[in-house]
Amino acid sequence: MGPTKRDRQSAANRTAADTDGGWPDWVDPAAIKRLQEAIESERIGHAYLLSGPKGVGKAATARAFAQAICCTDVDRSDRSVPCGSCRACRNVQRGAHPDVETFSLDTQAMLAEKPGRASTLTIDTIRRLRSSGALFPLESDRRLLIVDDAETLLEPAQQALLKTLEEPPRGVTLILLADEPETLLETVRSRCQEVPLRPISEAAVAETLVRRGVPESLATEVAVLSRGCAGWALAAAADKKLLEARRNERASAARWIASPRYEQLVTAFTLGEQFSKRRSEVIGVVQAAIQLLRDEMIAVAQVAGQSRENEPRTSHVTPSAVPFSRAIVAALQCLSDLDANVRPRLALEAMVVAWPNSELRDR
Ligand SMILES: [Zn+2]
Repeated sequence: MGPTKRDRQSAANRTAADTDGGWPDWVDPAAIKRLQEAIESERIGHAYLLSGPKGVGKAATARAFAQAICCTDVDRSDRSVPCGSCRACRNVQRGAHPDVETFSLDTQAMLAEKPGRASTLTIDTIRRLRSSGALFPLESDRRLLIVDDAETLLEPAQQALLKTLEEPPRGVTLILLADEPETLLETVRSRCQEVPLRPISEAAVAETLVRRGVPESLATEVAVLSRGCAGWALAAAADKKLLEARRNERASAARWIASPRYEQLVTAFTLGEQFSKRRSEVIGVVQAAIQLLRDEMIAVAQVAGQSRENEPRTSHVTPSAVPFSRAIVAALQCLSDLDANVRPRLALEAMVVAWPNSELRDR
């Protein structure tokens, strides 16, 4: 017997918020293991930096870490695993535990006098964090201060944060969450234990969605678009707008790659000019292009491999796949140039010049 309507309904509700709590089963297990080991060995550090792309699960992981530390269930067999149901666990999950505080662009906007969401965490927010760090824990042994959106901290705010990192208050653990840890000062980074959260496989993302009741065909599509970020996938399976935006990025990238060289350059020029206003969108299109080029490279290599199956093996390289691998290298270089503030137009143009030329390819 398959799942009843009610099962499916409750699965859909869970997907919408993914509020189960506890360690997320869709996050890079190596990262979770490191944090669990810190709890098991009772050597919880003063500062962690959880890094990884948006939607990879940094906030959910930080929350689970806080739950495991604050959980009051004394009977649990494994101290590194929160029970998920005691009052402390539930309060951490709801963002209502007195010893776990989150500082993010959203919380900053809620406390701001003027309405609207700033694009950076301000020095005032770091001052609030410093005073919060001076408080004694109320219910737990430790206070946990989570700084989400840490990549948006400008240098003066990072300098202010550095003071806390240099003289960490007793019993306080700072957890910075950053999409792009390269934007943090080396002095800040070096004082944190960095725990990278790596994207998981497409298959693992799809399984995560199916386990939560998402129909298989949708799960497969979302997984392909997820770039290995299951947190994004869970949100996108429940939010058409997110999914649509990513579909559009992929379609734009496909058109860009398939267009004649001249048009490829025009697109590079246009995206370069718009970069300062549409940064994440432009980066998204380049990431989608990398994924498409990779798919094409694999397809070409497989076809070539099949047709040569009976011939003696002369080389490990499939000649027809070389242009794609060159194009991927150029696109990865472009992403790192965009990150390093090379002029966006130049970075994008240099990339498309290394792409396969569709006029030649179709002949
Ligand atoms: Zn608990």
